[in-house]
Amino acid sequence: MSHQQATQAVRAGIETDEQYGAVTPALYLSSNYTFEGLGSPRKYDYSRSGNPTRDVLADCLTELEGGAGAVITSSGMSAVHLVTQLLEPGDLVVVPHDCYGGTYRLFTSLAQKGGCRVQFVDQGNYDAYVEVLKEKPRMVWIETPSNPLLRIVDIEKLCVQAGDDVIKVVDNTFLSPIQQQPLSLGADLVIHSTTKYINGHSDVVGGAVIAKSETLYEQVAWWANCIGITASPFDSFITTRGVRTLGIRIKKHEENAQAVAEFLDNNPLVETVYYPGLEHHPRHLVARKQQKGFGAMLSFTTQFDQQTLGRFIKELKLFSLAESLGGVESLICHPATMTHAAMDEAAQLEAGITPRLLRVSVGIEEVEDLLGDLSNAFAKVSSVDSKFEKEVSHG
Ligand SMILES: *Cc1c(COP(=O)(O)O)cnc(C)c1O
Repeated sequence: MSHQQATQAVRAGIETDEQYGAVTPALYLSSNYTFEGLGSPRKYDYSRSGNPTRDVLADCLTELEGGAGAVITSSGMSAVHLVTQLLEPGDLVVVPHDCYGGTYRLFTSLAQKGGCRVQFVDQGNYDAYVEVLKEKPRMVWIETPSNPLLRIVDIEKLCVQAGDDVIKVVDNTFLSPIQQQPLSLGADLVIHSTTKYINGHSDVVGGAVIAKSETLYEQVAWWANCIGITASPFDSFITTRGVRTLGIRIKKHEENAQAVAEFLDNNPLVETVYYPGLEHHPRHLVARKQQKGFGAMLSFTTQFDQQTLGRFIKELKLFSLAESLGGVESLICHPATMTHAAMDEAAQLEAGITPRLLRVSVGIEEVEDLLGDLSNAFAKVSSVDSKFEKEVSHG
């Protein structure tokens, strides 16, 4: 019988210890394993190639994403990099113009030295996407919801249009397998930065590649061992500990995010809120169709100038100014100078990232506390503003 995902996550590797009957799986730090005898290797020989602690996490993510196998890597970027090993020089990759900044940098740099060809396209513009497919890409990269504007693309539609000869890869980091299962929507590979929701506690940098077919899994696993980017046993252990609570964390994250999004949407100092759970989000219905929840990332713009923006962020006590996302604690970031600083100004503007944009990773604190903190910060900066206006008008 197959259980629900939240249950699968809780049970990852539980009761698998044959030696002592330990309830939770042990942490095997050993780099190497003895052979039973000459010519008789055991299941594991060397931890770069395979490690029991890492396999517990790989099996868990395979189950959660509904794949044939998973490779656990040392970071989300190494997961992206691992997938690029499937490309030959001259192969074309179609990448969203507003993809994760590190992914943008990696593909641009690879293309510059001839590792592949890359074409950035706004995948929300379906006609432009269909046009670029005529150039016969080897791989299509999909990221939805996008960072930081939470744009949504229709995974199934893009995969069907790409066809069987193209390797379809979805970066599922902004949600989790509990909210979105790209392999069931036509993708061949899913990648995660497990640094985010999968681990969920901002204490590991890690990644994963989950393959739909055994064949693709074997290719990816071969390359992972070849270039040596598999994750450490310790990181895998901590991440497995984190993923156990994925179900309950996601519930609370989403409840809070919806409330924060609505609060911001009703605030006169806020210009635009980008959150797929709001009905005015242009792809709200697509999100509803392919996701089981709307996630806990959102972004918004205000009318504040740069100085006021700085004061607003300083007044916030429960939203730490930091990059990254998906941890239990709420974070706020300024994409233009932080997460997306690797993009030049033209590329930023093309991706819709203005200096007024703030991105929030909504945590699992009590929602009243989060709303109270935002209220307080808005009140502080707007009272300073009106005092300033008074002083100006009085000469
Ligand atoms: C963070 C992130 C990555 C990169 O992962 P790291 O663990 O930081 O290397 C890739 N894609 C998305 C969407 C991310 O948010």
